[in-house]
Amino acid sequence: MTSRPPEDDCSALESPRLGEPYLLTPGPLTTAYEVKRSMLRDWGSWDDDFRAMTRHIRSELLSLIDDVEGLYDCVPMQGSGTFAVEAMLGSLIPHDGKVLVLANGAYGLRAARILGCLGREYTLIDKGDYLPPRGEEVSQALADDSAITHVIAIHCETSSGILNPIEEIATATQAAGRKLLIDSMSAFGALELSCQRICFDALVSSANKCIEGVPGFGFVIVRKAVLESSQGVSHSLSLDIFDQWQVMETTGQWRFTPPTHAVAAFVKALQLHKDAGGVQARGKRYTDNRDVLVAGMRKLGFETLLKDRWLSPIIVTFFNPVHEKFNFADFYQLMKDAGFIIYPGKLTVVDSFRIGCIGQMDTHVMQRVVEAAGQALLTMGVDNPAPSSRAMDVRDALAV
Ligand SMILES: *Cc1c(COP(=O)(O)O)cnc(C)c1O
Repeated sequence: MTSRPPEDDCSALESPRLGEPYLLTPGPLTTAYEVKRSMLRDWGSWDDDFRAMTRHIRSELLSLIDDVEGLYDCVPMQGSGTFAVEAMLGSLIPHDGKVLVLANGAYGLRAARILGCLGREYTLIDKGDYLPPRGEEVSQALADDSAITHVIAIHCETSSGILNPIEEIATATQAAGRKLLIDSMSAFGALELSCQRICFDALVSSANKCIEGVPGFGFVIVRKAVLESSQGVSHSLSLDIFDQWQVMETTGQWRFTPPTHAVAAFVKALQLHKDAGGVQARGKRYTDNRDVLVAGMRKLGFETLLKDRWLSPIIVTFFNPVHEKFNFADFYQLMKDAGFIIYPGKLTVVDSFRIGCIGQMDTHVMQRVVEAAGQALLTMGVDNPAPSSRAMDVRDALAV
């Protein structure tokens, strides 16, 4: 194998040479060439080599949460991230449990929907499109309802890009003696989540977000004591975390066909993550990406949905310009022609679009994204991309 520069060196960015556009989306995202190349062979699912890969990813993922006492284990689960969320909720919440769902976007609402499908009782704090659930609200809700056993929080709500105050939420949950489950799908691997600082029962993430692997599986990191008491809880055979864990512990295998190529790609992605400096370095690269993106877009006249305090380094929501010549479909196509796939917005109140900061990209790429956006405005004849006054009112309501 020829040696390549480390992934965080911009010269290692391979996508343009392959003629692919950059995916400025929150997963699937642009992966390193070496990650793609590691899928060029086949593995037998029962073979020792593959079992060793499964063992390796489980222990490497655990090493990211600072679990010095060895209290947690990692259970991978086939499917997209939502499958792993459903597996976590269905396997770890007892049938007589009750969940406080903290929602401020599509993923929080999806967790509530899953609980509805599973027939688990829940109560919802819905903060709308972009306001963060705060610690005091959690404390109050838990004090008001002694039946609540679990809280589910979304670490980074990818639909707006808001970084939720997970420490505050964890502190409130722990103080009330309840259990915290975290959807850290789009944050894990880039934002620190130490079990020494944040008390949680389980977190869930997937292969194709900040670790920069390809889609195919998710994983749940769970307290072993919780796993041990979860036998027979799941309503589902295939989404049973306890059963998957037992079989992996005793045979080293996944229960059903594993996504072998995605696992191989993930082994490589984890190695690149570690070589580049781990969670801190990954978070810094994404933060730098965001800073260049936001500064450049604001200079062009675009406005972000969120004030700086709540902007995650994962994905940023911008308001659509109110200018009569702006139209998202044209903007999207012009950005794509320039080599960048962006993302439509997911807000219910105002029109917006999103640009992701995660994946194999650095500030040089983000600078070119800004230039492409400026060029697209020129082509469309939009001399001022300012949003509607209604959009600015929405933002000013974010008084925190
Ligand atoms: C990506 C994501 C998910 C999972 O989505 P899938 O499309 O099922 O992979 C869940 N929660 C959050 C916050 C996410 O960003």
